Amino acid sequence: MTREIANWISGEHRVGGGGWADKFDPHDGTLQTRFALSIAADVDEAVAAAKAAYPVWAATPAVQRGNVLRHFADMLRAHATELRDLVAGETGKSLRDATGEVGGGIAQADYFAGEGMRLHGRSLPSGVANKHSHTVRMPHGVAGLIVPANTPFANIAWKLFPALICGNGVVLKASEDAPALALRVAELAAKADLPAGLLNVIQGRGDPAGQALVEHRDVALISFTGSTPVGRWIAEAAGRRLARVSLELGGKNPFIVCDDADLDAAIHWAAMSAFSNAGQRCAAGSRIFVMSAVFDAFVEGLVERADALKLGVGDDCDLGPVITRRSQQSILAAITRAEEQGGRVLCGGGAPTDPALATGYYVQPTVIIDLPFDSDLCRHEIFGPVVTVQRIESLEQALELANGGDYGLTAAIHTRNVDRALWFAYRVRAGLANVNFGTYGSEPHMPFGGFGQSGNGTREPGAEAIDVYSELKNVSFLMREHLV
Ligand code: NAD
Repeated sequence: MTREIANWISGEHRVGGGGWADKFDPHDGTLQTRFALSIAADVDEAVAAAKAAYPVWAATPAVQRGNVLRHFADMLRAHATELRDLVAGETGKSLRDATGEVGGGIAQADYFAGEGMRLHGRSLPSGVANKHSHTVRMPHGVAGLIVPANTPFANIAWKLFPALICGNGVVLKASEDAPALALRVAELAAKADLPAGLLNVIQGRGDPAGQALVEHRDVALISFTGSTPVGRWIAEAAGRRLARVSLELGGKNPFIVCDDADLDAAIHWAAMSAFSNAGQRCAAGSRIFVMSAVFDAFVEGLVERADALKLGVGDDCDLGPVITRRSQQSILAAITRAEEQGGRVLCGGGAPTDPALATGYYVQPTVIIDLPFDSDLCRHEIFGPVVTVQRIESLEQALELANGGDYGLTAAIHTRNVDRALWFAYRVRAGLANVNFGTYGSEPHMPFGGFGQSGNGTREPGAEAIDVYSELKNVSFLMREHLV
């Protein structure tokens, strides 16, 4: 019988009110699990559980909260193989890639457990004699966390651990594309003695489960990672009741190759940036600008590299399938549209012909040239292994194009000239600018987030995430000299 993935509320499995939906294996299209379709009443229950649980947790000294998180981190480490298998199975990643992701997520838990000892405010001199002031951090209360499935364990870890260390109760809206992983994380939290009700998991679709969470009056903070259109709706809906919001959204990340670049390295990093995780990265380097003098050599090298990439889920494979049939079809439609708008597909361009992959949701790594700068594919994120390469005449033009789009998440430049590198890195409108590697590289202690339509200005994780998951309070007291 197909396994059913339930909600997790107050430390127990709960069936959702909307029945079940099927979740398919991206690698071969077979039925994998069935997940609960939650409705507003389920969200109510989960929020009530978090609301009841968080005051005791908030009153627990942050250092002790850190100790509980450390225990939770150890529990995740002890189950790392099981978590890896869930990540790989639900997303169609190789075990190698899933191992890296689980390790990175556990590093987040370690980092934020340590933040329990550093949850500091500031002490400020007062203009009033004998008055002393300092800031303290307060939890928001109930935090609603909404995540996608592209890196399902990392996405949960980025939000869950800072939310908990700051003293919040959590309702996690799992991605419908990785339901079993989210449930398992909550079960392991309970096993690690996280108090019941502090972490609740709601399965189901964005509409109605995610929407009910966003609109719930008892949810003080919504932290969302996902697409820009949904993020925009969340900003509006949460804004109406002035709930706090953190939005980590999409990207259309520029990758610049100068005429003095180490071309082999640039080709290697361009392929990694565009095609790893089947291009399903907010940080994917999906538009490449190359200076004229090296354009032909770069394109030839990139196409050769893309053609050599191996599709599949084995550890010797370079990229797996995309997450759903719908996603595959929308990527293929975007390629067709690009051809209609003048694009020339140099490699890939469709689903693979290998019969072993025919029932999965695969898209061949695709390189497209000759597209106008303002074509759809050059402007909009498609979240798949498709990259455009365009010729540029100067670094000024590269910067203008890089900054001309709506998004501003990451950027990379390849050059041997430190002046060019710095000139670009300091001017590009992006939350992350990398020199001589890929559009990659977030680490647990580094802030990540974007300009423009890539977010609303918050940064997670790192010490900056603490600002997302806590409110500041200024406390002052007056020393009364006459009572000394
Ligand atoms: P999505 O926006 O469709 O869904 C993300 C989550 O939001 C899912 O859990 C979904 O059920 C939920 N959701 C959908 N509609 C909702 C609504 N109206 N109200 C509340 N919740 C709703 O995104 P996706 O296709 O699953 O993920 C891909 C997107 O995520 C890409 O745009 C990618 O760039 C972005 N992403 C951003 C980052 C970042 O850090 N900036 C990281 C990873 C992914």
